[in-house]
Amino acid sequence: MDFTQLTAHELLEKLKSQQVTLKAIVDSLYARMQKVEPKVKAYVRGKETGDFSFDSNAGFLKGLPVTVKDNICTEGMLTECCSKILRGFHPPYDATVIKKLKENGAAIFPLKANMDEFAFGSSTENSYFGVTHNPWNLDCVPGGSSGGSAAAVASDEAIWALGSDTGGSIRQPASFCGVVGLKPTYGRVSRFGLIAFASSLDQIGPITKDVRDAAILTGIICGYDPQDSTSVNQSVPDYTKSLTGDIKGLKIGIPKEYFVDGMDLEVKAVIEEAVNKLKTLGATAQQVSLPHTEYAVPVYYIIATAEASSNLARFDGVQYGYRAQTDNLIQMYKLTRAEGFGQEAKRRIVLGTFALSHGYYDAYYLRALKVRTLIKQDFDKVFQDFDCIVTPTSPTSAFKIGERVQDPLKMYLSDIYTISVNLAGIPAISIPCGFTKNGLPVGLQIMAKPYNEEMLFRVAHTFEQNTDWHKLKPKL
Ligand code: GLN
Repeated sequence: MDFTQLTAHELLEKLKSQQVTLKAIVDSLYARMQKVEPKVKAYVRGKETGDFSFDSNAGFLKGLPVTVKDNICTEGMLTECCSKILRGFHPPYDATVIKKLKENGAAIFPLKANMDEFAFGSSTENSYFGVTHNPWNLDCVPGGSSGGSAAAVASDEAIWALGSDTGGSIRQPASFCGVVGLKPTYGRVSRFGLIAFASSLDQIGPITKDVRDAAILTGIICGYDPQDSTSVNQSVPDYTKSLTGDIKGLKIGIPKEYFVDGMDLEVKAVIEEAVNKLKTLGATAQQVSLPHTEYAVPVYYIIATAEASSNLARFDGVQYGYRAQTDNLIQMYKLTRAEGFGQEAKRRIVLGTFALSHGYYDAYYLRALKVRTLIKQDFDKVFQDFDCIVTPTSPTSAFKIGERVQDPLKMYLSDIYTISVNLAGIPAISIPCGFTKNGLPVGLQIMAKPYNEEMLFRVAHTFEQNTDWHKLKPKL
């Protein structure tokens, strides 16, 4: 029997009542992969460990496997950020999120999910291992940078998955692939063991088939970690308790700056319909303003590249991964970086180094930090009067493979609706809310106040319970 279409919570129920064995679930996952993975290419490198442990008594998660993005450290299992420069890197420890998953009885799926190199990108085309294909249309990108995780979940090659989100890398691929993706509040999930892209923006989060699975997975990975100095010491609620199905009286803000030129008209129509749905379910919606929205992309690409240029300085051929072969030390540093980094990584190192350099620091980096505060204040103001903000996740549905590779600016604009959330440090979720005429999924983004993931789950779950979008499957 094929169990791969079921959600994790449905599988957990079946495991508990002994209607299915863990082995049967894993077997059907592999059978599914055999069929669709040659088309989708969600995973990289191939299986490393043959010994998948079938321990269905392993705590709350009963041994269910979780698919993990290639930038999250897994002890004894390659973690290469889909970059040549990390070739052969076996982390000596597990990231905190992996530790928490294991403590709760999850298994780590023995293949890692594809991603843009170091999470730089919006399409997964910047992976050293080649592109992942969108399960809804194999000619299209799955989004990025967590495109492998999202495509694996959407094509039922994964039960659920972890991604990371610096400027939209969980939500945008979730939207392109028709699945659920959540970026938690900054500081909610430990970044210990997440290979850093931009430390003040990065958060790990779930990519799942439905909102309940996202609530379960978020509850497990959240929580204080003394090993991450930006981790917040605040108790974690049981998020499944927010799945009440009731949004009566909730006040939703619709930012007018998000409905402007550049937005696909079909996407616009789908989002408007979704907002109407939320209204019929008892919420009220009103236009609001986030006046500094137009600065989000430039501010992000200064701060994110500045932090990335600094974080990537450690990859020099000495401590990790790839090392160019030469006798001269300085030459070795140079060659390793020249041969090891892909084009987008180099572009970001150059941009970020420039923004931080003497003479330009004040004009670019410092100014970007100031505007970041203004963007954050825009949100604070709206959340004084509104429970959540609803927007599209992306201005378009999935685009064709190759279409934006030669035009980095156009690629950067794919994140125009997701980036402000990271700059402000607030949580946001993307859920499936409809399709374009040519059959590509559209995602609805819901944002809330810091530490109010519960609001996201409540609204997202209510919408999901009253629509069928999350049940539709790509024909592969
Ligand atoms: N697409 C954005 C970028 O290229 C965001 C990536 C991310 O969230 N990791 O930086």
